[in-house]
Amino acid sequence: MDTRRPTNPAAEEILGGYFPVLDHGFVSLVDYMGGDADVERAARVSYGYGTRTASRTRGLVRYLRRHRHTTPSEMVELKFHCAMPMFVARQWIRHRTANVNEYSGRYSLMPLLFYRPDEEHFSLQSEVNNQGRGERAAHAVHREAVERWDALRRDAGDLYGWLLEENVAREIARIDLPLSTYTQWYWKIDLHNLLHFLTLRVDPHAQYEIRAYAAVMAAMVRRVAPLTYEAWIDYDLSGRPLSRGEREALSRLVSSDDDGGLAGTGARLSSADLAECGLSGREIREFLMKMQAPERPEFDLDLGIMRSAEEMAARLERAVPGSFE
Ligand SMILES: Cc1cc2nc3c(=O)[nH]c(=O)nc-3n(C[C@H](O)[C@H](O)[C@H](O)COP(=O)(O)OP(=O)(O)OC[C@H]3O[C@@H](n4cnc5c(N)ncnc54)[C@H](O)[C@@H]3O)c2cc1C
Repeated sequence: MDTRRPTNPAAEEILGGYFPVLDHGFVSLVDYMGGDADVERAARVSYGYGTRTASRTRGLVRYLRRHRHTTPSEMVELKFHCAMPMFVARQWIRHRTANVNEYSGRYSLMPLLFYRPDEEHFSLQSEVNNQGRGERAAHAVHREAVERWDALRRDAGDLYGWLLEENVAREIARIDLPLSTYTQWYWKIDLHNLLHFLTLRVDPHAQYEIRAYAAVMAAMVRRVAPLTYEAWIDYDLSGRPLSRGEREALSRLVSSDDDGGLAGTGARLSSADLAECGLSGREIREFLMKMQAPERPEFDLDLGIMRSAEEMAARLERAVPGSFE
């Protein structure tokens, strides 16, 4: 049946498709409501489609993002089906503005699928960031970790299977499954709050594993609401707010010229001058980082890896302890 709902061909192309993430996880956009035109429609409220041109939509969407008029983008919703290791789910669930329904280990059998970091992402503790990874660990350490993980997970899986065989309640049988065990959920969120989630979770400070999910979801947003995605990259992800002191420092370095452009004043600011603007040593270091030319990250989906819901469901089902199907 044809729909009168607003749709976007780029989003329709991937709707219901499953994109593998990590070794056993996935993200699927199972539904969406609205797109850029609906952000605009909500902002204009009393204007109809007739007055809209593509360039006006883009201008308005960008204006709204720049000036943090966020409620129009709350009118657009996206619903995902995702599977991720429990330790990723634990970080993800901290984002409180989504509606979540998680797979129940009390009601259902847990697929015995465990996340195993590949060698590329198996790193030593960072020496500069207490909450992050540093250099890659030695090959031999990864090999032994894999052996030890496999042994531990075999034991945990055997224990789970044995408890089920003894007809122990599933809610008890599952308690020693490790945090690497995959869980899954439906996750629905509006576009505004999704972009907040993505800003935090595609950031290099976020753990690699959750970043892998956020990158796929950012690429899905691009298909649902490309103009909002573009504005998010420009203003949120690659933009940086400036403090009063930073603005003062910049105003000493550049001024607007008669042609409506910007001209350098020829001034040079020493760290003492920056301190005079009110910036602490740490703020100065952060300011200098802000002044580096920004990157323009892009998030894309590889349609070649897209899988069907049936294939993903079959994979999960095969991993459930066999004798209890
Ligand atoms: C790199 C990184 C490291 C982290 N490290 C830790 C850690 O060590 N320990 C830890 O506990 N957490 C940690 N977190 C989680 C972090 O503190 C936040 O809980 C998480 O990022 C969710 O952010 P949020 O509250 O802005 O998002 P959401 O829950 O999605 O909320 C979105 C926005 O809604 C508003 N909001 C939502 N609920 C409320 C409320 N009850 N009251 C007021 N405003 C509300 C806020 O403006 C909020 O920004 C980390 C997060 C990141 C990205």
